[in-house]
Amino acid sequence: MKQLALPPIGVFGGTFNPPHYGHFCPVQDAARQVGIKRIMVVPCQIPPHKAKPETSAATRLTMVRLAAEHFNGFEVSDIELKRAGKSYTVDTLEQLRNDMPDTPICFFMGLDSLLHFDSWHRWQDIPKLSHIVVCARPGWQPDYNTNIQRLLEQRLTEAPAQLHRDKCGCLFFASVAPYHVSSTEIRQRLEKQQNLHGMMPDNVHAYINEHRLYRP
Ligand code: ATP
Repeated sequence: MKQLALPPIGVFGGTFNPPHYGHFCPVQDAARQVGIKRIMVVPCQIPPHKAKPETSAATRLTMVRLAAEHFNGFEVSDIELKRAGKSYTVDTLEQLRNDMPDTPICFFMGLDSLLHFDSWHRWQDIPKLSHIVVCARPGWQPDYNTNIQRLLEQRLTEAPAQLHRDKCGCLFFASVAPYHVSSTEIRQRLEKQQNLHGMMPDNVHAYINEHRLYRP
């Protein structure tokens, strides 16, 4: 008798310096669309594509935990904090794949990340480990280079059911409400002591104030 497929799990990586609604809300929308009930949020130790954040990984992890309290189905993993060196997504997905050999894995990213996905460490191995679910991001256009175009030709699906049937290998565009916010903008606003109304959960904002993070 054919075994029932395991439900897919979502994985959402980032620097989260600091976390904001533009991280959680689009992924929450996308997860609903795909039918994913469990999403693992994975803050990085050292981002491969950005300057080393001035805020420690432990602090960013704490803020992500606070933010996740506001959303159903999100759990926070410290898997990348336990590894030395740059936090490559492919290493994280390999670790998760070892732990969950039969579970479909959906890696979430914003459109800005897809545009330079072919610069990620061992990017061609990522679709062998997980699906990719892309969320639109205000300010970014679907203007793809040839590598990404080829990836789409080979992997694009419009059927969420395929992300349940297969364990990896598909790319799906979720249709999500736009969130006009970035960590950069939040850091800049904090430096200028401007308000952050509606950009992040209150408990994250309170934590930032309490610890005087991102102050000049
Ligand atoms: P920074 O401004 O410091 O570069 P960021 O706001 O882009 O940071 P990251 O932690 O680098 O946040 O992003 C983690 C993931 O979240 C990436 O896949 C990114 O594309 C996605 N993301 C961040 N903000 C948004 C947003 N407003 N809408 C959709 N996706 C987003």
